[in-house]
Amino acid sequence: MTRLVLGPDEATLQQIKLAAAEKDTPFYLYDMEVFGARVEALRAALPGCDLYYSAKANPHPNMLSTAAAMGCGIELASLGELNAIVTAGIEPARTVLVGPAKSERLIAAAIEQDVTVVVESENELLRIIRLATGRTRSVQVMLRLNITGARGGLRMSGHQFGMSRSQILTCLELLSTARELSFTGYHGYLASQLLSAADVIHNAKLVVDVVTELRELGFPATNIDLGGGFGIGYAQGEKELDLAALQPDIPHVQSAAGGAQLMFESGRFIAGPAGALVCRVVDIKTIDNRRFVLLDGGMNASGLFGGGNGMRNLNHSVVRDATVVTGGTPANICGPLCTPMDRLATNVPCAAAIDDLVVWWNMGAYGLTAAPVDFLSFPHPIEVFHDQLAIRL
Ligand SMILES: *Cc1c(COP(=O)(O)O)cnc(C)c1O
Repeated sequence: MTRLVLGPDEATLQQIKLAAAEKDTPFYLYDMEVFGARVEALRAALPGCDLYYSAKANPHPNMLSTAAAMGCGIELASLGELNAIVTAGIEPARTVLVGPAKSERLIAAAIEQDVTVVVESENELLRIIRLATGRTRSVQVMLRLNITGARGGLRMSGHQFGMSRSQILTCLELLSTARELSFTGYHGYLASQLLSAADVIHNAKLVVDVVTELRELGFPATNIDLGGGFGIGYAQGEKELDLAALQPDIPHVQSAAGGAQLMFESGRFIAGPAGALVCRVVDIKTIDNRRFVLLDGGMNASGLFGGGNGMRNLNHSVVRDATVVTGGTPANICGPLCTPMDRLATNVPCAAAIDDLVVWWNMGAYGLTAAPVDFLSFPHPIEVFHDQLAIRL
């Protein structure tokens, strides 16, 4: 069986050594076999459900094409992501556009491409109705619910996403007379980075309960999109969401959904463990008994660094000549930026010497794409693929 995480095994360490000899650090190393294995694993845990890949986690064309070739739809949010889909030759009919504050230009482009639009407000629906006027093919729309009571660390409910119950009812009224629009269902994405299967099910049930109530009021759904949020292990020793614990409860959610097709979206769970960020140690120093290991990539290279993440001691390995070096005197590991926020790990054992590599695992999602790459104008990290290196070898 293919492995589900890119980690410090011998083959990967050799790949990293090779790539580091050829390429400037910092760089990302991705393994598309891991990416594909994760799509399969997630799909197996969600039998009968439709799976979408969330472009914002990692919009690299290889990721988008692999997800699409494996039968996933794509969830997207911007013109850039829509262009990436079109450029990759992906069928736009298998995509959903989700996100608050969609510009008129974005909505028009989505309609033109037959993308399903997930409506986030009454104003937005009125805009879609206006832009769709006179079209012969109907525009598929879903309505995004804002529901409180969700579980999970990174919650969406109570924020700017979706609509309250009364706004949903207003939209349903508008839809009943909008000839060019075809209402397909509801969208409820309540939280990200969920590590407990019980929390995933809790949130799914919150959505399905509201959808049931709306169905009883005479507004049934063909589809229910339950969003993403499947979590992975970031800190040392932190375990990812247990799919085996999730799977047995999915049929219950399905039967509560009253025949509607369930959809899920995932970015982090699919792309995260398929990527690593490789940085090089540039300097090491001690100031007042505090040791600092300084790398050539920091929060400018990954959106998962900075802003307090340095307290979480993200999973990493110190690598010298394709061998992991463990132990060492505790140090703060920092990036090259001129801000104390650029701290990547706090007081961790670190045996690194200058020119060693520090490899950060689980960086494939929200790494490069969520990084402030232009802050301080260092070179942008490049992206290297495991299989391409193998071919060159
Ligand atoms: C970001 C996002 C996702 C993906 O979330 P993950 O936590 O990466 O699975 C899914 N759906 C929507 C609407 C999003 O905004």
